[in-house]
Amino acid sequence: MPNAEWMELGACRSVNARLFFAPEEKEPRELRFERERQAKAVCADCVVKDECLAYALRNRERIGVWGGLTEVERGARF
Ligand code: SF4
Repeated sequence: MPNAEWMELGACRSVNARLFFAPEEKEPRELRFERERQAKAVCADCVVKDECLAYALRNRERIGVWGGLTEVERGARF
């Protein structure tokens, strides 16, 4: 699927994507909280935050910070 137009405007496009997704290896709780805090700070100033969150909810994105919310906060189930 081609990227939606709003994706081109995301504040995260100029940030390392690893900030938004947990690493494959085990991530200590404190590091996860800090990574998510930094990701959410990027989302807080993003002009397409609402579109991003709606997309994540609609597509049931199971991992990562989308629209300023973590997968747990979006109610994702594993
Ligand atoms: S809300 Fe966050 S994850 Fe979504 S496009 Fe903006 S910066 Fe990226």
